[in-house]
Amino acid sequence: MSGRDDLREHLKYYRDLGVAGVTTNPVWRERAHSGSGETHSPPSTEHEAPAPSTDTDLDAIRIDIGDCTRCKLHTLGRQRIVFGSGNPKAELMFVGEAPGADEDEQGLPFVGKAGQLLTKIIEAIDLKREDVYIANVIKCRPPANRNPEPDEVATCEPFLFRQIDLIKPRVIVALGTHAAHTLLKTDVPISRIRGRQHDYRGAILIPTFHPAYLLRSPDRKREVWEDMKLVKSLLTQGA
Ligand code: SF4
Repeated sequence: MSGRDDLREHLKYYRDLGVAGVTTNPVWRERAHSGSGETHSPPSTEHEAPAPSTDTDLDAIRIDIGDCTRCKLHTLGRQRIVFGSGNPKAELMFVGEAPGADEDEQGLPFVGKAGQLLTKIIEAIDLKREDVYIANVIKCRPPANRNPEPDEVATCEPFLFRQIDLIKPRVIVALGTHAAHTLLKTDVPISRIRGRQHDYRGAILIPTFHPAYLLRSPDRKREVWEDMKLVKSLLTQGA
């Protein structure tokens, strides 16, 4: 593929997303892809403390989860536990609600149509999927994609908290109503809390619409693009 074809393909992402105003700032790309956070902000005491490798610790969490039977979802048709994937030192983390059918099938988060749109959203701010970390509030698919129930969330979310505390992202994007409500312990409609900054476990959490909702309501892509520009700005500024 020629460079021109590459560019055409890249711009098509933006058209597909319904966005405009593509950055060509190379500084952003260099900083965002570093993934370590070393150049963005003064090291905190947490970062300075000697700690085992983050990879190993994430592996330890996965081992801890094992073939989990802690909540009733293990009896309700789940095929695979969807732990999460991506850069264990990511500065940007996405958290969704729960695995769907494709994710349950493959054991990976956001791999269906909504996942493909999420990939485009990530690329729209000049990052790649492997630069970020993607997980869900709960790790097993609820039957018929129903909302997770409170006891399931209460049982499973400590694993997400451990992932967040190890990865120490600077920005977390909560994808959709359920993820935002669960993480922020609120029931304020997503349309009112999206795009706002919330302190969350040492990170800035920004709720936005779920990619699956965008597939049904493409006119909301503009708002997600606004939210993602804010995310990019926070990462670039060393928030
Ligand atoms: S949703 Fe979480 S707590 Fe429930 S069975 Fe799956 S991994 Fe275990």
